[in-house]
Amino acid sequence: MSAPDYYSILGVPRDASADQIKKAYRKMAMKVHPDVATDPDAEEKFKQVNEAYEVLSDPNKRSIFDRGGDPMGPGGGDPFANMGGFGGFGSFASQGFDIGDLFGAMFGGATTSRGPKSRVRRGQDQLIRTRLTLSEAVFGVTKPIKFDTHVVCNTCNGSGGVNNREPVTCTQCHGRGEVITTQRSILGEIRTTQQCPNCQGFGNIIPEPCPDCSGQGRVPEQRTINVKIPAGVDTGNRIHLQGQGEIGPGAGPAGDLYVEIQVAPHDVFRRDHDNLEMVIRLPMSLAALGTELDIDTLESELPSCPPERQKVHMHVPAGTQSGTRLVVADHGVPSLRANRRGETTRGDLGVTLLVQTPTKLDDEQRALLAQFAQMRGEGGPEVLNKHPEEKGFFDRIRDVFSQ
Ligand code: ZN
Repeated sequence: MSAPDYYSILGVPRDASADQIKKAYRKMAMKVHPDVATDPDAEEKFKQVNEAYEVLSDPNKRSIFDRGGDPMGPGGGDPFANMGGFGGFGSFASQGFDIGDLFGAMFGGATTSRGPKSRVRRGQDQLIRTRLTLSEAVFGVTKPIKFDTHVVCNTCNGSGGVNNREPVTCTQCHGRGEVITTQRSILGEIRTTQQCPNCQGFGNIIPEPCPDCSGQGRVPEQRTINVKIPAGVDTGNRIHLQGQGEIGPGAGPAGDLYVEIQVAPHDVFRRDHDNLEMVIRLPMSLAALGTELDIDTLESELPSCPPERQKVHMHVPAGTQSGTRLVVADHGVPSLRANRRGETTRGDLGVTLLVQTPTKLDDEQRALLAQFAQMRGEGGPEVLNKHPEEKGFFDRIRDVFSQ
């Protein structure tokens, strides 16, 4: 099987120099890279281009190919080589640059002739955390939040120079931002490219840097902003505030600000998705006789809470068992998702009743209870077989108490 024409794949003449081959390869690889090319054959073409480069950039393989051999065949496939096995192990990666380099070159990043750096860059995104009470998280709040950031320097209006003087071209690198140094060694001359030490790679110099920002165009400052936190947020939710992050170097555009929510535990209420849960202890006698309850709502912590929502009334029926969960609809957490759709749906308030067995009985009380049991003909303890309702009860109690 004969090898494809690697020269025409890269579009270079047969006497192309190593540099020409490298340039042609970069151009072709960028054109046919499957991540950018829409051509359905892009992947196949990309493979061919890489193979062509692998061969033509390797003097051994190139010479095999030039003499009519297949350098990618087994053992290097050199029909003229009696030693066999030159190459064949070369790979794309070993050619010394990878896809990252390619895209770097495409988007003006690393590797080839990067040119001077810009003094103006976008600011970084910032993440700050804020702690809310449960009622703030459930009902929403507008909160002043203080954070350290960078703002445009007022003294120089972000120009970095006194009196808005324009930067002047660096005399050491002539605006290139990099300098080439040549060192002699036993292997010959070694040329290295370095960031220009005179202008730190910017290619220009601010003649008289602003004394307040040292030419940075921005200064550190503590800002306070009012953040509107929607009802229904929970620990870990982030609020994205576009353009509220730090101003970039050279007074570049501001990054974004993310405010991450942490909700403090509440003494009474525990959140379970969109429900609020609480536990009420009930003396045995009230559980048996039935009673009425008035409970302070979480909403009652809000200064703006209307009087009719400060308390909920609940009827505990006679004969209520320990672990019974009563439900008050529409007194839970407003659904954040529904909120985003412009609706308001709220979860429930779940009230789990824990019946308390009396302790520290005196003689008279003990006698009364014994008499009571005798009157009711109550028997002894009873082993329960698997009973779904009882199991649900134990799970519920455990859930309510596990924070
Ligand atoms: Zn300044």
